[in-house]
Amino acid sequence: MTTDKPTVKNLPIAGIIFVPGSAKEYNTGAFRSQKPILDAKLCTKCGMCWVYCPDGAVFVNSEGMYEINLKYCKGCGICSEECARKAIKMVDEEE
Ligand code: SF4
Ligand code: SF4
Repeated sequence: MTTDKPTVKNLPIAGIIFVPGSAKEYNTGAFRSQKPILDAKLCTKCGMCWVYCPDGAVFVNSEGMYEINLKYCKGCGICSEECARKAIKMVDEEE
């Protein structure tokens, strides 16, 4: 008796292939609904946003100023909560 049921041996090959070391190429902030806006005039460069960001999206640019890489930012708002100077404001993504 023959059967049309798939078996482990005849299932089509499927999956997601990740190239090792390519994680930084992925736009992991694509689903964000809010984004942080950093006001450099209020920033004291304390680094707390950098410390608390769970996605490593905060960085120091070549002028020594803190910036947020929106390619990796998930819009969680932790940096805004932790900034004692209120230098980071969360806004809707459309703004
Ligand atoms: S936490 Fe606020 S004051 Fe501190 S570096 Fe970040 S934006 Fe600047
Ligand atoms: S909103 Fe969240 S993910 Fe984006 S920079 Fe701030 S702490 Fe990091």
